[in-house]
Amino acid sequence: MTTTTTAEPMGPSQASLYQQLRGHLAALKLTAAAEHLPAVLDQATAEGLSVTAALERLLALEVTDTEARRLAGRLRFASLPSPATIEGFDLDAAPGVDPALINELATCRYLETATNVLLIGPPGVGKTHLAVGLARKAAEAGYRTYFTTAADLAARCHKAAIEGRWAYTMRFFAGPTLLVIDELGYLPLPAEAASALFQVISQRYLKTSIILTTNRGVASWGEVLGDTTVAAAMLDRLLHRSVVLNLDGDSYRLRAHHAATDTLRRATTGTARPLQ
Ligand code: ADP
Ligand code: MG
Repeated sequence: MTTTTTAEPMGPSQASLYQQLRGHLAALKLTAAAEHLPAVLDQATAEGLSVTAALERLLALEVTDTEARRLAGRLRFASLPSPATIEGFDLDAAPGVDPALINELATCRYLETATNVLLIGPPGVGKTHLAVGLARKAAEAGYRTYFTTAADLAARCHKAAIEGRWAYTMRFFAGPTLLVIDELGYLPLPAEAASALFQVISQRYLKTSIILTTNRGVASWGEVLGDTTVAAAMLDRLLHRSVVLNLDGDSYRLRAHHAATDTLRRATTGTARPLQ
């Protein structure tokens, strides 16, 4: 007498069915599902899963894997220059910044209305940190995101003009839902660069968002861009639908420097600057 158990080795027809199923998964490029198939089939047997439950478990693994791959792809494309995050931004160290506003921006809702974000402040106050953190949030939320600097954008446009790829490059900068343009104002922009920047901003106007960081107040943009008319037109478009953050607190780099100096002073003389 033979007894049948569910854990019995597969017969020839079952084995070929299994091979066919793996073949289907491979043909559909469901790599994770193909990889996890044996384990899920074993679980189905061991736990007495229904066909529906087993299929759900198998495809959930594929969905998780696909989402992780897409996120990695978006983050790679975004070209973020540092691992900075919003969670890693110390709000207590940025006295000029409204925590509620940062939390609101972190939801990425501003992207749905093509709202721009302007981060203005002296060096070291966390402008790039916030821009990178918000760009990371956008990529995580599924938005196409790209990080560049004003100088790099200008150089790329200049090269594109020479090589006859102007239209292609403009389309590239129009594409992402969020474009970060870091460090406007650190280097004076030649007229041609200012006009490239203007074109990028114009074509995104009311369609997609820009996060722009600058160490120069808007009043001195005419100087930065070498042309007050271009500066005014650019500001019109940037500010029309925008959130402006002034980060004018003590520089974070300077704080670390002060802290290090204090530690040193305490170690050598036994005195420290009074706590503030
Ligand atoms: P900025 O772009 O304004 O010149 P950064 O964003 O490059 O300044 O900040 C300088 C350094 O200090 C970075 O390493 C950044 O992570 C850190 N930093 C600045 N502000 C904060 C903050 N509020 N919380 C945590 N780190 C900060
Ligand atoms: Mg910076």
